[in-house]
Amino acid sequence: MIANYGYEDGSGHYYIKIDTSKCAECKDKGCVEKCPEKLFVVELDDFDDEVVVIREDCRNTLRTNCALCKANGEKELCRQACKFDAVGFSW
Ligand code: SF4
Ligand code: SF4
Repeated sequence: MIANYGYEDGSGHYYIKIDTSKCAECKDKGCVEKCPEKLFVVELDDFDDEVVVIREDCRNTLRTNCALCKANGEKELCRQACKFDAVGFSW
């Protein structure tokens, strides 16, 4: 399943997309430790698979949370940590 977390405002769309079917296969959940803002949280989905979701209290502030990470010009740390290419951004 593709899950989208985020918001939009006058300046744009700010969504993180997670392919949770890949997370279910992912043993180390590297994104959780790697994210400096601790945005990723492990939860059980409806099929009792361990997947990650974006922390609820940050879903409307992602542009700010991710600003430093995105400003360094490299692939975001969460995407670097994810061996399954399961994370995407709308901005
Ligand atoms: S590292 Fe990638 S595949 Fe693994 S839990 Fe995180 S987003 Fe999902
Ligand atoms: S871009 Fe950086 S701050 Fe944003 S979710 Fe990825 S690792 Fe975390």
